[in-house]
Amino acid sequence: PGQTPATAALLRRRRDTLGPHSPLFYEEPLHLASGAGVWLTAADGTEYLDGYNNVPHVGHANPRVQQAICDQAGRLNVHTRYLQDRVVEYAERLLATFDTDLDRLFLTNSGSEANELALRLATQHTGARGVLVTDFSYHGNTRSLAELTTGLAVGEEFGDHVRAFHVPDTVTATGVDPRSLLESSAAQLDAALGSLQEAGHGVAALLVDPLFSTEGMPEPPDGWTQMLGEKVRAAGGLVIADEVQSGFGRLGGAMWGHQAVGLDPDLVTMGKPMGNGHPMGGVVTTAELLDEFGRRNMYFNTFAGNPVSSAAGLAVLEEMEDRRLMAHAAELGARVHRQLEEIASGTARISARRGSGLFFGLEIIDDDGSPDARATKRLVEEMKRRRLLISRIGPQDNVLKIRPPMVIEDHEAQLLLEGLAESVATVLR
Ligand code: PMP
Repeated sequence: PGQTPATAALLRRRRDTLGPHSPLFYEEPLHLASGAGVWLTAADGTEYLDGYNNVPHVGHANPRVQQAICDQAGRLNVHTRYLQDRVVEYAERLLATFDTDLDRLFLTNSGSEANELALRLATQHTGARGVLVTDFSYHGNTRSLAELTTGLAVGEEFGDHVRAFHVPDTVTATGVDPRSLLESSAAQLDAALGSLQEAGHGVAALLVDPLFSTEGMPEPPDGWTQMLGEKVRAAGGLVIADEVQSGFGRLGGAMWGHQAVGLDPDLVTMGKPMGNGHPMGGVVTTAELLDEFGRRNMYFNTFAGNPVSSAAGLAVLEEMEDRRLMAHAAELGARVHRQLEEIASGTARISARRGSGLFFGLEIIDDDGSPDARATKRLVEEMKRRRLLISRIGPQDNVLKIRPPMVIEDHEAQLLLEGLAESVATVLR
């Protein structure tokens, strides 16, 4: 229904080449033609407000990023074993946003590659294999990451060297003393770490998204994050902060999610927004860890940090700085969170507001208080009908995920919120 013959034909060709399992959003997939800022134009000319995509961090088709890529591609692009300026400029600029001991950078081409490399560093440094992850998490598509995936279907068996733990949530645990949440979580973490030791794996690393995006953005009690880091360190492991979703000022108050939540990592991995759509990822770590790894391994990466990628990454950082996008995420984010609170207070079917900065979540329940994935999906579709793009996440698939490009302006956020209020009124009657 509503599908043009051209879109139907394209879907068939896609299925016949990429296969039937390559996922697409929406019941009726959206066929896109172009974008600018927070706006996306479909093949049929319809305009959509993008309230979902964090890859076009500084806006779709950002002119500065486009120019930087074109200029550099017109001058020089080579593999990374020649001396060239751009990658060093990029590394200096990126590392300046970190706390002082995190002052070395490996570049990669994706978040998966970054997490894979971080795990190699951690296992070689510690001589251990064990990895701790959260329930319902996703860190990438390589084999060793598939073995520790708890949040998506994967064919690989869950690794016997991996333990998953639950992130305690103060938002849903209303009436529960935060101290008892902290204690029960401490016991669970001790058991997981102890079981890795007993099995002879030892503890190589904790791999964790500081915002717990895939996990539905639970909010742990005060002191929990510090406790988590301390327990992992005491067991001999390193702390890896996966900032693929939480990084680059998204949370408003800080450039990096680990800074925002008070986690003190040994390794920070990043990806998605880094090149505004140009494939880039990275691992930031200490000089000690980088040198130790470098002495033992001939690590090189053909494309990562090539002049064009570096130019794209630089343009993203320049754009963020010139347009004060981190402060913007904090300021506009605070206003939007307040308005989401109002929308939530108008219905018993929204049980929680989640996220921070320009990352928002609303948790949808049914009349009996159970997670309502169906209504959540209907809300996402209803928003699309209103030409507003959002998505959903969480272990129960009942958290609306709203995470627009960082350049979203006040009036555009208002359009999104008005549409959301109307969609809530329509779907959650
Ligand atoms: N870590 C997190 C937290 C992610 O959300 C993702 C991608 N959704 C990845 C890692 C993997 O990144 P990529 O798809 O660039 O390999």
